[in-house]
Amino acid sequence: MAKGLFVIYTGNGKGKTTAALGMAVRALGHGYPVTVIQFIKGNAHCGEHNLTGPFAGLLQFHVTGKGFTWKSENLDEDIALARTAWEMAARTIAEDKARLLILDELTYLIRYKMVDEDEILSAITGRPAKMNIVVTGRHASDKLIAAADLVTEMTEIKHPYQQGIPAQKGVDF
Ligand code: ATP
Ligand code: MG
Repeated sequence: MAKGLFVIYTGNGKGKTTAALGMAVRALGHGYPVTVIQFIKGNAHCGEHNLTGPFAGLLQFHVTGKGFTWKSENLDEDIALARTAWEMAARTIAEDKARLLILDELTYLIRYKMVDEDEILSAITGRPAKMNIVVTGRHASDKLIAAADLVTEMTEIKHPYQQGIPAQKGVDF
């Protein structure tokens, strides 16, 4: 009997979103519906958004907002966007259609106090029995980590950025 897990990929090294998308590929290969909600970066150029063919019907991507950040000049608008994005996540959990739900960069909503942490925690811990939820992002909070079944911290040992190599298509997006 499958048990839906709460998984966190955190840390400063590269690979958090990539690991989550790797799980998505596995789930899709078994015919499971997957929903991905991307909270912070509104990058429309990501290769994963362009998938077509038999898996496309099982995979839903929501790139929320306009890539809002905590550096923004309009914090109220950012908080409203974060709130709307979180409500979409809460709805997806309640609807119980996705077998895998990826909440990409959700950690920042908690870190910058854009959405109430306890509200997020209670929705995630109250998820449907078979739903796997993956949260990515740096600085996962202590409470989030305490509630998770699986936590992996990506540790940066080397990154091409250190050699001045910029983000590349098919590697970073
Ligand atoms: P990826 O999406 O490649 O799995 P990630 O989810 O672990 O990366 P994010 O913090 O979401 O990391 O950053 C996304 C972008 O920043 C990617 O283009 C990635 O290559 C780049 N990046 C990730 N880690 C580092 C790092 N330690 N130094 C510089 N750039 C990084
Ligand atoms: Mg990421």
